[in-house]
Formats: sequence, structure tokens, C-alpha cells
Amino acid sequence: MANSLSRRDFLKRTSAFSATVAFCYAASPAAETPKDSGRPNLVFMFPDQFRRQAIGFMKEDPVITPRLDEFAARSLVLTDAVSSYPVCSPFRAQLFTGKYPVSNGVTTNCNSGKDVMLKQSQRCLSDILHDSGYSLGYLGKWHLDKPHEPFVGRRRGRPGMPGGGIVWDEFVPPERRHGFTFWHAYNCRDQHLNPRYWTTEAGRNEPTYFNEWSTRHEADVAIEFIRNPQGKYRDPNKPFAIFIAPNPPHTPFDQVPKKYVDMYKGKTYKDLLNRPNVEISNPHPQAKKHVRNYFAAVTGTDEQFGRILDALKQQQLENNTIVVFTADHGEMMGSQNRMHKGVPYEESIGIPFIIRWPTKIPARRDNLLLSPPDIMPSLLGLMGLAQSIPGDVEGIDYSAIMLGRPGARPTSALYLNCSGSNGGNRGLRTHRYTYAINRLKDGKNEVLLFDNKKDPYQLNNIAETSPEVVRRLTGELNQWLRKTKDPWKA
Ligand code: CA
Repeated sequence: MANSLSRRDFLKRTSAFSATVAFCYAASPAAETPKDSGRPNLVFMFPDQFRRQAIGFMKEDPVITPRLDEFAARSLVLTDAVSSYPVCSPFRAQLFTGKYPVSNGVTTNCNSGKDVMLKQSQRCLSDILHDSGYSLGYLGKWHLDKPHEPFVGRRRGRPGMPGGGIVWDEFVPPERRHGFTFWHAYNCRDQHLNPRYWTTEAGRNEPTYFNEWSTRHEADVAIEFIRNPQGKYRDPNKPFAIFIAPNPPHTPFDQVPKKYVDMYKGKTYKDLLNRPNVEISNPHPQAKKHVRNYFAAVTGTDEQFGRILDALKQQQLENNTIVVFTADHGEMMGSQNRMHKGVPYEESIGIPFIIRWPTKIPARRDNLLLSPPDIMPSLLGLMGLAQSIPGDVEGIDYSAIMLGRPGARPTSALYLNCSGSNGGNRGLRTHRYTYAINRLKDGKNEVLLFDNKKDPYQLNNIAETSPEVVRRLTGELNQWLRKTKDPWKA
């Protein structure tokens, strides 16, 4: 789509395309399915800051998510998937490189104040899929580049503020798109109701603005990519992979369509903030103000994800498409009297990971401690491309376990946050415990240990009374640090 299209023109063309598609299919039903390799397609959706607890079937947050509930019933649900470094850029870099942050170089969020970005030389999941004959699309928030130079016409400012952009947002040139040939994306900009995107051919100063909720807009484009009228979005003779990275339910929480907010009418913040680790008599003011908006964005995400699933079904692509729903990290929303992410608590590191591949992946729940670097090798394993996993990948291929076969399992997942004094925090999530060390300015350690079986809301720090557990987990943590080339010592 040309980048000068207005939203109205885009929608007009969209519906015209839809009408054409039905005709194309009637004339040539094989045109839209992969002919040669028989490899599965991939639809990978990962909204930003969508916590694991915020899906209805988990029976934790009182959210309305009928489509995800139905999807999960037909999928493998990994109940203990962990976002190792629960902020934006480090998750995305681990997802695409299959390596932990010290090895892939993305040790904090990419913005203009830091010399951190995804290196062009890294061989990413998308590079491998491209070279294996896939048509690739990327939609939404990229956040793996740092701004290189002032964005013309934009003043310095914070994301979400008028004139904002230079600090976080960036044009991603084609040579830095790691194999994605269809592009409808931006780097980082928190304007959910007035999003802007650089389309495939657009130059640096040619983003297109849209006046609609970004997640809805991205679902519209994803559906067109899946339908692929006249081969406009991808090569119809190749399998496809599309990554959809909506920014909501990330802040600003109040930029969400009213119809989703209205679905929580009659519920007070006391009804919605139901976790015992929220001090409900005196909650964090942002949680009190925004929990309804956060859940509204969750419900809107659910509806738009459902539309994408419907498109796959309508195009008869359901059986040959792997669909993943996950997130880069969670949202504290008042738990532990905190907001947002970065910390080792469940609401921050706990992400949904739901994967569907009809007739191949048995639908069930599994407590595999999946970490972000495991996603790349596991997907390549599922797609029959295990031989293409680069030798320096640090994640593990868990495709056999996903397919319902036996396989070696990790006993822990790494937690890290490299920002902060003295290299930040490190820790582990085991099936039972959460263990984390926060290194303070004076070099001393603040140690957290929670028994998640006895204390699922992490209200009692038992580090001082459980020296044996701390000793054992410190040893396991040091093994992780060595394995991930991290100079930090526990
Ligand atoms: Ca994020």
C-alpha cells in the first residue's frame, strides 16, 4: 500500500481487495497456499505488556477474553513461560536471535541515549526463514533500533508527548529489517489512537499516520497480508510468516476505544484489582486510575486477535499455520505497590505463551519453563528447519516437547535486568521459587526469595530463613551466568 494513502482510501481499497479475493480463490484455489516445501506458515502475535494473568481462562484477572479462551482450549498453553529480561528491546532481541542479552548485545532498551541496538550482523529467526523460502511480514512496534539522527519535522520529546519521537522512534532502513520484505512498522512511539507506520517502500521522512486504534489497524493489515489479494503482500507460492507486535496494552493506558472500556461498566477498581498483593485500601494511584483501561486494551487485543484467526479459517489456512500468542513482558498494575515491569515478580516476568498447530501440537497445558531465547530454535524445530539453527544460539529447541514427545527440561529460567547500579539484578524462576539479587550502589545485595507454591502472591520474602535454598539457587544462577557469558557474579 502506498504510504500516502489516507485511512479512508486504505479501508476502501481493503474492502475492494476483499471482494477480489473471493473471485481469485474461486478461479485458482491453490494460488494462496504454499506449493513446494509443505512447510507451515507462522502467525506470531506479541502485544506489549500483556501479562500472563490477563487472560480469562487463567482465572486470575477478571478480564473478558473470549477469543483467547477459545484459542487456548485448542492449543498448547505454557503456563510458566518467563520473560527473562522483562522490558521491550531485550525481549525482542532474544526472540529474534535466540541468544541472551549479553551475547546479542541488546542489554537495555534501545533509545537515542544509549549505544544499544540489534546488530545487522546478527542472524535472526527472520533471516533464516527468509533464506528458507518464506515470505515475511512485520507489523507494529519493532524497538530494536536506536534513533540515528533527528527525525525531520519532529522536536525532541518523550514518547506520547506532543512532538515526541526523536528519543525513541526511528525509521528502520530495509537493510536492517532482517529478512522482513513486507513492512508496516515503527520503532517505538506510544500513540495508540494516532499511530504512524513506515510501509515497505517508505523513506525516512515518509511515515503514514492513521486515526484509529493501532491494534485494530494492524489486524486489518495482517488480515490483508493473510488474504494476499493479487499477490500484493507476499509471494503466494511461498509459505509465510507474519509477526504482529501491537503496542497496547502498554501505556498510555487511556488511549483505548471506549467500546472496550464500556465492557467493564459497573466494575469498580476494587472488583478489578483482585490480586491479594495489591493493597486495595490504598492502591497505587495509577493502578486505581487505569486498571479498567488496561483490561479494556486486553479485551480489544482479544477481539483483534480473533479477527486474525477468523481470516486464517476463511482462507483455509488454519491447519497449516502455527499460531503463537505471547507478550514481551507483563504489567505489575499495583501488585507489590508497583506499576509496569523490569522486576522479578510474577506479574512482570509472567507472559502468556499459547501455541496452536492443529493435528500436530496436542492441545494441553504444560509447565515448561520457556525463556525468550528458546522461541527461535523451538519454532525452527517445529518448522522442519532445525538444521538451520545457528551454532551460537543459546536457547534450546523444545519442539519435541511442544509436539508432545519426551525431552530434557530446564529446572529454572534466568531473570536479569542489566540497568541500575552495579550491573543491575539477576535471579532465577524455578517451578517452585523466585530468587533474585538486587545489587545496591554500595555493592551489597538485597535478596528476594519467594516460595511460589506456598505464597503465589509473593508476600513473604523467605531469603533470610532459607539459607540452604539460597545457597543452592546461587549455584544454579552462577551456572546460568557462565552459560550466558554474563560477567555479573552472584
Ligand atoms: Ca515492552
